[in-house]
Amino acid sequence: MRAPWSPRNKVLHVGAPNLAPWGEFAGLARGCFERRWLTNRGPLVEQLEAELGQRLGVEHVILCSNGTVALELAARAAGLSGEVILPSFTFVATAHALQWQGIRPVFADVDPITYNMDPAAVEALITPATSAIVGVHLYGRPCAISALQEIADRHGLPLLFDAAHAFGCAADGQAIGGHGLCEVFSFHATKVFNTGEGGAIATNNGAFANQVRLLQNFGFAAEDRVVALGLNGKMNELSAALGLANLRHLPRFIDTNRRHFELYNQGLADVDGLQLIDYSGQTISNYHYVIVEVDNSRFGCNRDRLRDHLLTHGVLARRYFTPGCHRQPPYNGTPISHALPHTEWLSERLLALPNGTQLDAADVRRICTQIRSCPRDGINLHA
Ligand SMILES: *Cc1c(COP(=O)(O)O)cnc(C)c1O
Repeated sequence: MRAPWSPRNKVLHVGAPNLAPWGEFAGLARGCFERRWLTNRGPLVEQLEAELGQRLGVEHVILCSNGTVALELAARAAGLSGEVILPSFTFVATAHALQWQGIRPVFADVDPITYNMDPAAVEALITPATSAIVGVHLYGRPCAISALQEIADRHGLPLLFDAAHAFGCAADGQAIGGHGLCEVFSFHATKVFNTGEGGAIATNNGAFANQVRLLQNFGFAAEDRVVALGLNGKMNELSAALGLANLRHLPRFIDTNRRHFELYNQGLADVDGLQLIDYSGQTISNYHYVIVEVDNSRFGCNRDRLRDHLLTHGVLARRYFTPGCHRQPPYNGTPISHALPHTEWLSERLLALPNGTQLDAADVRRICTQIRSCPRDGINLHA
């Protein structure tokens, strides 16, 4: 059973929400009550869509009820069918959003350095049944956008992106959000910018945007006129209120993440066998994911034992992503004609450490100390 919450037994965990001051949310939420307008394209959803569009430099941003539904809507509006190529090394929702509508996910391996999908592996998997490629910007590091676009163009395939980790990031100076046919965000509570539950599709394609809007509202083209098989994928006004409040504080959230990331870097730099994720190739990043690669043979302790050690000290680190999607029961019956060695390797070695505004510098230093004091085979900490 979970102990009652108190500041003294707080568990530092991955994914605690970044929040604006309560009063800023409350002021916006009060307006929803006064207008008695809680959903169906209210003024706050429209305002947040406009602010996000401006920030991302994208013509259309369609807010959705969550990132998974946004991915489903994107796949549906793009007319995907048959097979779609995506990485296995991602959150399972990327695959679910396809399989849920009868599209077969075909898993490509990732690059062991960038953790992102390997374009050569993608190209090798293209068949006449392939209808699209879905790239994932894992941990906010842009995937190989131009290489994937070149392959997609050459085969006449649409390229979509799961950008759930990459809000606030950029690739070659261009904000994530404007690439491919569309980029799909999640604004779940655990992401750098959140609306509680929520997500968005960003696109510069007007016809595609119209189709998404139609499908996210049951297929209603006009009152009492349904022209397509849609679903309910709308964001509500209270989530948009939280989003508008939180968006004002995004620079602070990212700055906090960056400072913590640097403290982790200092605290762990000289530990043999631990390799922190490298964001130095990016000028603009959200620094939200503090990912450490644990090399058992040099650190003297494997990833899972390190995780257990941290848990006994009140730190909930997460094994993002273990195992790869292809090993999860809904997918491990799918014939895999190709091996995914890098996915297997990474899914046993990566550990996500807490970050965000829940922490202060002392918390980060304490977590580093706990990592360094993890009992290790053959290593005398007092030598
Ligand atoms: C969070 C996440 C999703 C799903 O978003 P929800 O808003 O939780 O539905 C999809 N893909 C990735 C990579 C994610 O991290």
